[in-house]
Amino acid sequence: MLQIRDLYKSYGKTTALDGVDLHVARGETVVIMGPSGCGKSTLIRCVNRLTEPDGGSIILGGQDVLALQGPELQAFRRKVGFVFQHFNLIARLTVLDNVMFHLVLAGMDREEARARALLALDRVGLKAAADRRPAQLSGGQQQRVGIARALVTNPEIMLWDEPTASLDPILVGEVLEVMEELVKETGTTMVIVTHEVSFALRAAHRIVFMDRGKVVEEGDPQEVFAQPRSEIARLYRKLLMN
Ligand code: ADP
Repeated sequence: MLQIRDLYKSYGKTTALDGVDLHVARGETVVIMGPSGCGKSTLIRCVNRLTEPDGGSIILGGQDVLALQGPELQAFRRKVGFVFQHFNLIARLTVLDNVMFHLVLAGMDREEARARALLALDRVGLKAAADRRPAQLSGGQQQRVGIARALVTNPEIMLWDEPTASLDPILVGEVLEVMEELVKETGTTMVIVTHEVSFALRAAHRIVFMDRGKVVEEGDPQEVFAQPRSEIARLYRKLLMN
């Protein structure tokens, strides 16, 4: 489904990605973990070209992602759901309009877009909040709107960039619950950047550990925590035991 080969990205003298290889099978849920600044966010942002890599290749569903331009790239992005750490909702629009936005922009009939958006909101338990503005919602609810917006196009793959990292600890649980349900029920391919180790143990098929722009270890969640080989995996195991 997704094949990333030898991906490089630098910002001036900072190397964010130093030759990353990552393969994700259709329907697989892969969690990416690693210390802050190791390149996790840069890696998943390259997949839908929010960030342009300097070298390497990305093939998604048989398409050469780095060769896409203009309308092709726009169409491709609709097949990729992206959930941001800071939600990125549009403050002046209602919850419903936030979720419909990309469908309408892509030329879908408003009524159909509305029906689809309500379905997506229902899946995250927020249909009743459709007419509210983002500022009237808690952080957890705002992120659930962000998830509905990513879901609404029926994406082939969903990318999650630390979706619970900017939430109060008491609001993290409701978002993880929605995430876990989606992982189990949709069968959509998912790549999730998160530090939530118990979520990863319950929901991931595979955990990939990164350090300083490279993949340093990957494997079955139970196995990597039982017998970590890298320093980074050992650190995450400690979190699990706390
Ligand atoms: P992570 O998601 O693992 O915290 P990032 O991918 O955000 O790591 O960042 C990897 C490295 O690239 C870090 O050193 C970070 O400071 C740097 N970096 C990321 N984005 C930018 C940017 N837009 N401009 C300059 N440096 C950046």
